[in-house]
Amino acid sequence: MAKKQIDIVTNEMRLNQNITKYLKKVERSLIVSIPVKMDNGKLEIFEGFRVHHSTLRGPGKGGIRFSPNVCLDEVKALATWMTWKNSLLNLPLGGAKGGVCVDPRKLSINELERLTRRYTAEIINVIGPDIDIPAPDVGTNKNIMAWIMDVYSMQKGRSVPGCVTGKPIEIGGSVGRESATGMGLYFVIDALYKKMNLNLTDANIVVQGFGNVGGTIAKILFEKGAKILAVSDVSGGLYHKEGLDINNLLEWRDQNRLLKDFKEEDYIYVPNDEFLTINCDILIPAAIENQITVSNADKINCSIVLEGANGPTTPEADEILNERRIVVVPDILANAGGVCVSYFEYIQDIHSYFWKLDRINSELENIMVNTFEEVYNLSLKRKVSLRMAAYIIAISRLVKAIEFRGIFP
Ligand code: NAD
Repeated sequence: MAKKQIDIVTNEMRLNQNITKYLKKVERSLIVSIPVKMDNGKLEIFEGFRVHHSTLRGPGKGGIRFSPNVCLDEVKALATWMTWKNSLLNLPLGGAKGGVCVDPRKLSINELERLTRRYTAEIINVIGPDIDIPAPDVGTNKNIMAWIMDVYSMQKGRSVPGCVTGKPIEIGGSVGRESATGMGLYFVIDALYKKMNLNLTDANIVVQGFGNVGGTIAKILFEKGAKILAVSDVSGGLYHKEGLDINNLLEWRDQNRLLKDFKEEDYIYVPNDEFLTINCDILIPAAIENQITVSNADKINCSIVLEGANGPTTPEADEILNERRIVVVPDILANAGGVCVSYFEYIQDIHSYFWKLDRINSELENIMVNTFEEVYNLSLKRKVSLRMAAYIIAISRLVKAIEFRGIFP
């Protein structure tokens, strides 16, 4: 998918084939085996990855995913999308990603800690403040980032908070990081709604995925007065035509429970394979990639798709949505708030000077809204989709970097 997207965009930009070839390859991939002593005395070996797609514009930056579907190709694609995202926001960072093929829900807390610590030790030579700075992604959180920082710091013999972002505030994390991706989504959809002369309080919303990203955007929009018709997690979704009470559902989720087990009269259970076709104004896929595909794109029933997840729409499905005049706000723009505040966290760690929440949110809003304007204006000027416009901006900056730096040796 990531490679196909590069072809589509570099074709539109009429780029030299050498550049296309260069952009499609990741710089380096590390595959590691992670032996973990399980609580029952058995030894399990997990497979982990860290991939740098590009460090042309700065150190690599991207999350770490713990999920049973993680494989090298997935991590490579996610690392590639991070390069575009960081370039689109004009952050001095490259693109990277990591992951472990594991279902973290099946591990005890001690097993999870041993797995994280050993994974960090295995990838330690390719991460660090000047090389590549990981962050949370699907299945990982601030506690896992704290263990990563601890292993890295123990190896260096000093505290190195800038080696990872999304940490707890007490050890160099940033205020506003946990909610940043959701806040970014909000700033972008608010800006788009203003362009369309529409009011978000009148919007009917469906959110796939009820974790960090999906949960936060659902809460923000709920509190702004929008109607959240449905939310889902890995177990399925809940729907109510008058809107769900998001705060109750978040409380339920925070007790480590699944949505399918939440019982409330009038809430209708919707299985995952029907969920994305619920009729709404704004559909927010915020779970995993490859969700809107050729098999459901013609049944998607909304006016705007706001991509909270990375790569939720396949290129073929994207074409169908474009033909149907459904506006797609692409992942590299829509969900870039997370990496933006991760960048702020990294700067704060390096300077040992921490900002207040107001500053974080206003600088985030500034970057997100300005980037949205840039993408929106280019899409009008070139008569292309928002995705194409975002990619053109991101890839143009990379092409400039390649031209200035040249190819070594
Ligand atoms: P998370 O682990 O906090 O939440 C993931 C949610 O998706 C959970 O509710 C899970 O139950 C649900 N889910 C998993 N598989 C599903 C399936 N097959 N069908 C329906 N729901 C499913 O992860 P997150 O951090 O919220 O990340 C979600 C997406 O957003 C990912 O694509 C991630 O790469 C992207 N993203 C995350 C951040 C961030 O800051 N966390 C930033 C940018 C992009």
